[in-house]
Amino acid sequence: MISLCEELPYASIILQEHVEDYCANCFNEISDTRIQCDDCLEVTYCSLKCQRTDWKNVHCLECQILRSQNQPLTPTMRLSIRVLLKTFGFENIENEPKSFNGATFDELETNFDEYRSSKQHNRFLNDLMAIFQISATSQLSAIFQKVEKRHMIAVICAVLANTFSIYDDLKCENIGVGIYIGLSKHNHACSSKNHVVFVKNRAILRAPEGTKYNQELTISYCSRMLPTSERRKSISQVHFFKCQCDLCCSSTENEFHSQELFKKIENTNELRNLQKLREEYSEELDVDNLLMCHLIEKIAQCAIKLPLKERFRNEAILGIQVYINRLGLGTPEVTRRLYLACLILEKYENGGEIFEKTLESCDLSHGKNHPLTVKISGMIKI
Ligand SMILES: [Zn+2]
Ligand SMILES: [Zn+2]
Ligand SMILES: [Zn+2]
Repeated sequence: MISLCEELPYASIILQEHVEDYCANCFNEISDTRIQCDDCLEVTYCSLKCQRTDWKNVHCLECQILRSQNQPLTPTMRLSIRVLLKTFGFENIENEPKSFNGATFDELETNFDEYRSSKQHNRFLNDLMAIFQISATSQLSAIFQKVEKRHMIAVICAVLANTFSIYDDLKCENIGVGIYIGLSKHNHACSSKNHVVFVKNRAILRAPEGTKYNQELTISYCSRMLPTSERRKSISQVHFFKCQCDLCCSSTENEFHSQELFKKIENTNELRNLQKLREEYSEELDVDNLLMCHLIEKIAQCAIKLPLKERFRNEAILGIQVYINRLGLGTPEVTRRLYLACLILEKYENGGEIFEKTLESCDLSHGKNHPLTVKISGMIKI
């Protein structure tokens, strides 16, 4: 596979639980120097330079809003605020990087009418507008007086419809969300052969060897290891269409699917409870069931944070073949699942077959120079 193009976000934010671990400006992991904004205490930087850049770009206004909040805002709210401020808050934005394919913010899908008539989304829109009104300092009021309310809402809708999750592959976690104007031009298909990976907050579009860039290329907005009904649900809730790709329409999927079990997996974060779930359902579900794969992946994710990993050797490799059979080596879902296995097996099976497979998959999905590929080849050499 090859990297077709790269894009930095129009705006991005670090998730609340990672605010102290990553720089709000460059998404570097913060090591020794940790500089917090003294005024709002809501953003952290890796250097004074990053703090200054972010202050100038958006935080001088954002800080005024964050300071006035009694409780942390949701990631989507934080991102919407950044986007609104970047769009309306500054007179000259000529330094703004143009998207790689020439797409502009105004061209983004907004799903305006759909969000307005969805109870849940409309409440979000109203809540956010209220935050703006309540926290408006005189400087902010002066800026937003000139903007039509409908235009502001359309911008927030564009954020709702086009948010990318920023994934740190080395940490196996989502660390932030961002708006990528150029990449947003690409439509969704679960069965797409192209995908997006991240280095810090830089998004990279990867495609099979020989692909020429064009805006008709699709990407998948969700994990292909989720059952079709779950993928369809997540797509239709945000984008209001029913995916009809090959993966969604194929009847060969092995999918016992229980909404109840899916919800339980999503809402359980304790290893012991996840293992209990596995015991409970293992009679009913084969290891090649997608929900079972999802559950085992989550167990592995919890296990890598614990010191005694050898206890999870079985969970580490269980179901991996299902991932490979379904999507093939070289898809990010497969690489990430294999990498989770490596993190558990690390000290016990150096140089084993799993490590070689992981490197092969990562080389394809992420590319030779990606930090994840570098890390995995280091794990093999040790
Ligand atoms: Zn930084
Ligand atoms: Zn601040
Ligand atoms: Zn689909």
